[in-house]
Amino acid sequence: MTNRSDVLVVGAGFAGMYALYRYRNQGLNVTVLEAGSDVGGTWYWNRYPGARCDVPSLEYSYGFSEALEQEWDWPEVFSAQPDILRYANHVADRFDLRRDIRFNTRVVALEYLEADNLWRATTEQDEQLEAQFCVMATGCLSVPNKPKLPGADSFQGTVLYTGLWPKEPVDLTGCRVGIIGTGSSGVQAIPELARQAGHLTVFQRTPVYTVPANRKRMRADVQQEFRDNYLAIREMQQNNAGGISNFRPVRSVKRSVAESSTSTSATAIPTTSLPASSLSAPALAPNKILNLTPEERLALVQARGLNMLLTFRDVYTDPEANEAANETFREAISSMVDDPTVGERLSPTTYGLGCKRQVLDRDYYDTFNRDNVTLVDLIESPIETITTKGIRTSATHHDLDVLIYATGFDAMTGALLKANIRGRDGKRLTDKWRDGPVAYLGLQMHGFPNLFTITGPGSPSVLSNMLVAIEQHVNWIGDCIEYLGTNNLQNIEPEPAAEVDWVAHVNEVAKGTMYTTPSCNSWYLGSNVPGKPRIFMPYVGGYPRYRERCEQVVANGYEGFRLG
Ligand code: NAP
Repeated sequence: MTNRSDVLVVGAGFAGMYALYRYRNQGLNVTVLEAGSDVGGTWYWNRYPGARCDVPSLEYSYGFSEALEQEWDWPEVFSAQPDILRYANHVADRFDLRRDIRFNTRVVALEYLEADNLWRATTEQDEQLEAQFCVMATGCLSVPNKPKLPGADSFQGTVLYTGLWPKEPVDLTGCRVGIIGTGSSGVQAIPELARQAGHLTVFQRTPVYTVPANRKRMRADVQQEFRDNYLAIREMQQNNAGGISNFRPVRSVKRSVAESSTSTSATAIPTTSLPASSLSAPALAPNKILNLTPEERLALVQARGLNMLLTFRDVYTDPEANEAANETFREAISSMVDDPTVGERLSPTTYGLGCKRQVLDRDYYDTFNRDNVTLVDLIESPIETITTKGIRTSATHHDLDVLIYATGFDAMTGALLKANIRGRDGKRLTDKWRDGPVAYLGLQMHGFPNLFTITGPGSPSVLSNMLVAIEQHVNWIGDCIEYLGTNNLQNIEPEPAAEVDWVAHVNEVAKGTMYTTPSCNSWYLGSNVPGKPRIFMPYVGGYPRYRERCEQVVANGYEGFRLG
């Protein structure tokens, strides 16, 4: 039997949940299909020890409901995964979302039925559901990258992925644990794993630039001030490149100035109560690194913490300044790690700051001073094979009970390509995107009418506060569906020229940034997945510029779209 709705939404993470709320409230019949057993998306799957958000929670939260803003208490400034998942569950309960979500339902195919102007989803259970509109809320980082290492299937111990961490607690007490990967996930997990495991072996291919995360509990007065000012804060987010307001509560600024006036440090600078996240603009940075001696640079960084973004304003724009900052960073690492060889191995040399997303950690470098932690440099001694009992590198065999892959994601396009999408005339998205994603505004693709992607490639997405980007896309799509209905139109898709021009613009603005330097390899570029085309996927032109473009397109009668 086929089920029919107005809108099918794939995914019940933050995007899918808000899409359901928004479209239901505009009178549409919505069905959400979710592979997991509950809501939360990335925060449902990434339950690994140490998982935490790198955007302050008062900003990384929905803005669509004033009541929700006023009632929810965040225990910490940067929330841990369990608290964010609790928030997602609260939202699902509060707005009665679950009744329209089918859990444990993985979509294995999506097909456009042109004669009926319908999308048909086929699930793993071989059930079919149809709707006029289909909204892919499948997330940018939802398909784990599983490297094909020789012998991988032969390992007889426990295999875990940070991006698919089990719901049941994993007891690592006394275990010999190995972890492959030192990106954001690995860096967050490693200190926690080291505390739990008997011995932890870290298999590192590329060292990371990571800076200490804020550890503060949420202060009631700061939270209240946010609540009092949320209207203005949401407006500020709309006009910030990263979708972050950087709002500074007056009460806490007063307090930090008072604190800093009693500080003995010559370089003490008043701190904000909500320090910049990995997305914040470097507007606060007071210094130019090239104006200082190497000793002054190091002293400043040691006094202020490793966050070059907040310390120097030129490191992401001037290659010479960038190299000076990289060098300062390496010196700072060597001063934090007891064993000089380990310190050297942890120091990035093959790429610069700003190429990858800034990683935030808690006790990362200090972890390598522990007796129960070993660092294996895979450039010096590559993995030859996974064995039944562990990992053999070119240097030795490492016995392991547990092997953890913190090897990242097939980002931005992975979930969309995996959904086996076929548009008009049976055209496959995998064919259309063979040389990289082609989409208009990261919202729609020519040949796939009435199919929308939330935070799709070509939109600010991962370079902005995801909650802000999600709400903007969900609203744009909701308004679009309403417009079609009001004007008795049946479908919408981009003109081929519009998506080609948009992709060219996305590439143009990325050119010359630290993200796309030839030495840079990152998931933004797809270069973390063997065989994936090297294309810079998110839109780096800034959230406000992008939002204004979307608004302008609508004001011009859906410029660049074909409406039928
Ligand atoms: P990632 O940044 O792509 O890191 C993957 C790691 O695995 C890298 O160290 C990579 O080494 C290594 N790796 C991959 N394949 C390998 C192989 N075959 N052999 C050895 N090493 C291999 O992935 P991630 O750490 O999951 O982070 C992805 C993104 O998720 C982040 O940038 C962030 O946006 C998001 N995230 C955010 C948070 C947060 O909010 N704090 C936390 C976790 C994740 P190479 O560098 O050499 O490829």
